Amino acid sequence: MSLGYQDTPIIPGSKYHVHDGERPQPKVVTPGENGAPPSDAIVLFDGSSLDGWRNGRGEAAQWEIKDGALAVVPGTGDHHTAQALGDGHLHLEFKSPVVVKGEGQGRGNSGVFLMGLYEIQVLDCYQNPTYPDGTTGAIYGQFPPLANACRKPGEWSTYDIIFEGPKFSEEALVAPARVTVILNGVLLHHAKELQGPTMHRELASYHHHAPELPLKLQDHGDLVEFRNIWFRPLGAYDQA
Ligand code: MG
Repeated sequence: MSLGYQDTPIIPGSKYHVHDGERPQPKVVTPGENGAPPSDAIVLFDGSSLDGWRNGRGEAAQWEIKDGALAVVPGTGDHHTAQALGDGHLHLEFKSPVVVKGEGQGRGNSGVFLMGLYEIQVLDCYQNPTYPDGTTGAIYGQFPPLANACRKPGEWSTYDIIFEGPKFSEEALVAPARVTVILNGVLLHHAKELQGPTMHRELASYHHHAPELPLKLQDHGDLVEFRNIWFRPLGAYDQA
């Protein structure tokens, strides 16, 4: 029994007919229940172990597990995954400190550094103005988010970030990095092209780097917590 058609035109750029029943079936992924990771996700933090995390010197993580969350320990520095990651979908949840302290960039500051280089800002921007390209969800120093979708301090927020790293030919940039960011179900960036690795008070520009690098979370001195961190490589069409 044929699932589809073979007497239809070939779809340009593919070797398959329109409605081709012989085309590879999409792989089965079981969605997680109640926010749990999908069945094929790379779980980067499951609430119980710091094994997959390192401090800035590549040593055992110095952040803490607090009620199942990965908690920044101020002064220990940025932490990164042991595993290098490339293009894909990152999911994580974060919580700003319940006790509101400081203002502007000094309130609940952390950051999600894709490939350790490209920061999507984490900040408590609930009734806390600061420079727009440094607000929650900003591509820091480049593009403000399309919306401020912050929850109140102490409430968990959800990031879904789809990131494609820059492509290089030898040393030359062929395609810039692109990112789509959804915070609490609200779109903040759609396939936005980055200008280069994150800088502070300077313009960004690309330098050649590997296609897979560890994910980094920032210690900016504030008591930010993370949980349910997972990653799914982007994948490709027609991979049976
Ligand atoms: Mg930051």
